[in-house]
Amino acid sequence: RAKRSLGDKICYYEPSMDEGRRARSALAMELRYAIERDELELYYQPQLDVRSGRVSGYEALLRWHHRQRGIISPAEFIPIAEETGLIIPIGEWVLKTACAEVAGWKKPYRVAVNIASAQLTQADLPKIVHETLLTTGLPASRLELEITEASIIEDRERTLHVIRQLKALGVTIAMDDYGTGYSSLSTLQVFPFDKVKIDRSFIDGLLADEAATAIVKATILLASSLNIAVLAEGVERQEQIDFLQAEGCTEAQGFLFGRPRPLPEIAEQVGRRVKQADPAVSRAA
Ligand code: C2E
Ligand code: MG
Ligand code: MG
Ligand code: MG
Repeated sequence: RAKRSLGDKICYYEPSMDEGRRARSALAMELRYAIERDELELYYQPQLDVRSGRVSGYEALLRWHHRQRGIISPAEFIPIAEETGLIIPIGEWVLKTACAEVAGWKKPYRVAVNIASAQLTQADLPKIVHETLLTTGLPASRLELEITEASIIEDRERTLHVIRQLKALGVTIAMDDYGTGYSSLSTLQVFPFDKVKIDRSFIDGLLADEAATAIVKATILLASSLNIAVLAEGVERQEQIDFLQAEGCTEAQGFLFGRPRPLPEIAEQVGRRVKQADPAVSRAA
């Protein structure tokens, strides 16, 4: 495939305002065709069980292979997808592709899929998830949906209703980027989260920054007393994982354990049964 030769370059734009706006609208137009041009791909990053040190699952992270620019970071194009509404078809592609790919793995790892706030307020999200599980054959227990803390505060009632329906299907729900979304502590009481993912910014500050360290400790304590699993994002150094383990953090994810990788590169670890170009995958997508 052509996109392979584009390599691992990630492009960032930092042009002036006007140029910036023009570049964004050009990107928005191209993003519209990214699915049909087969320019989207999922990378997978391992999540570890802290106690056993074993991989417990993978987070699916979207990459866009742009014809001229190489790989564009989701930090750049997800906001554009959200502004233009393209996040709905793209989010659906991500969900279907992740479930289809992971269903083909010999090892029964869980997959975590990011859900944008616009998808969450879609009344038919539970139906889409249900149908995707049926068509791909992925057991519901192997699908985790990541919802950012920021997205649930927008429309709490509706979001809570959708989350309850999703949970009824048997999927698990994780709160992503915990600590950055200004939700109240009662959110963890009211919303049936199975897991909180402590935002990378706090893990970054671990040990060096007293406040960040205190927040991480308190979050682990709060989550465990509420019987919620707690995952630390962005673990890069051994001393961070040593601290997290001592504090009772249950899961971890970060460059220390593995970067996000395209499926062919983790094929051996997951025992992939189907080839990436398998028609079953494209059909499900
Ligand atoms: P996120 O869901 O919080 O994903 C974690 C991000 O942290 C990923 O960035 C991952 O590569 C990065 N990361 C993981 N470990 C480390 C580490 O040790 N150090 C550092 N510096 N970074 C680490 P990525 O893949 O660039 O994605 C950025 C964000 O884009 C995601 O944050 C998520 O909010 C969004 N995103 C990615 N894929 C999707 C998707 O399919 N749908 C939606 N709605 N959003 C997505
Ligand atoms: Mg995430
Ligand atoms: Mg996150
Ligand atoms: Mg994050």
